[in-house]
Amino acid sequence: MKKHTSDAKMILNHLGRLFGFLKNLDAKAGVDESFDYPLEILRQTMMFDVSVLYKVSNVIEDRLILEIVKKIDPKGLRPDLSEGGRLRVFLNAPDKRYVNEAAAFLTQQISYENVPGIGCDIIGYVYLPDSFGGAYLFGGDFYGKQSSVKYYEVAGIEIMCNFLSTLLMKTQFQYQAEIDHLTGLFNSYKIKQKADFVVRRFERKPLSSACIAMGDIDFFKVVNDTYGHIQGDLVLKKTGEILSTSMREVFDVAGRYGGEEFLLIFDETDEANAFQIVERLRKTIEATPFEQADKTGKGLENKFLHVTMSFGIASLTKDTDIKTAVDWIARADAALYASKQQGRNRITLYKEAL
Ligand code: GH3
Ligand code: MG
Ligand code: MG
Repeated sequence: MKKHTSDAKMILNHLGRLFGFLKNLDAKAGVDESFDYPLEILRQTMMFDVSVLYKVSNVIEDRLILEIVKKIDPKGLRPDLSEGGRLRVFLNAPDKRYVNEAAAFLTQQISYENVPGIGCDIIGYVYLPDSFGGAYLFGGDFYGKQSSVKYYEVAGIEIMCNFLSTLLMKTQFQYQAEIDHLTGLFNSYKIKQKADFVVRRFERKPLSSACIAMGDIDFFKVVNDTYGHIQGDLVLKKTGEILSTSMREVFDVAGRYGGEEFLLIFDETDEANAFQIVERLRKTIEATPFEQADKTGKGLENKFLHVTMSFGIASLTKDTDIKTAVDWIARADAALYASKQQGRNRITLYKEAL
């Protein structure tokens, strides 16, 4: 039986669109999602009977362990590949069905050997360093067909593999450089950059006002000293969650500025509104039961602790003499200091702190 003919133009067309799809993917969405469109391209343009995505899970001696992440198999031709399952491939003497999987892994290149009696599949190799989750294999199977693979199909998959590996590494590097790992919020470098961006745009277009709030957990040292550092980290993590989920989707940005200090940016917001939002946050934190954990970080049932947070707010308007993000942040910090002086668990506006 001959396989349906694929169309080189159609493959090219999809490859063009793939670049845009990958560029717009959110780094937080996870690497697996990045393969949705590539697998769709295999199915739609190359007419494989079965398309599959493997994650390289481990190599133990000569056994390659692959995790089957996704499979498109409308006719149910490959029951040996079940999504979520694991596959063991003997690299020195692979089962005939996995010859191309073994070769792609060993050469770190695309493999499309025709195996008599089995047919032909194409398996591409996407390189990712271990720190980014490790490599992937993906491709398709012309089930039981001895048909030859077309050169432009091979080229298409090679291009996809290169796109994927380059862009995934780029988004992962960017993610690591901008995100604070404990809280998932922007790190201090990125949040300062965001504040700087607002100041510079305001210089060009001083139309509306923006605010920042600096927040600091009260008596946080006591949490660490009483319950240990792991508990302290859990409190920081949960505080980060509260801050990011309580903020509005479009305009507001939150970052971890220092140890237990957080910087919030409210773009296009006046002081009165910013105060309202921060007051809501302050009350939420005050009312939140933080789960207690033992020294290993394991949650203790029905044991909770409470923390409060102090804030300082500084606005950026036509009348404020703010030239740089550093000026702006220093004002929020001064206002925060006043909140601490006055007993904590409160908000101070910069103009009141003077
Ligand atoms: P105040 O109400 O005046 O803010 O008192 P405080 O105890 O919160 O402030 P202080 O600056 O004295 O102590 C902050 C503590 O935060 C000290 C430091 O060990 C702890 N800390 C900073 N970063 C981290 C972190 O990433 N994890 C944990 N567990 N603790 C941290
Ligand atoms: Mg503190
Ligand atoms: Mg502090």
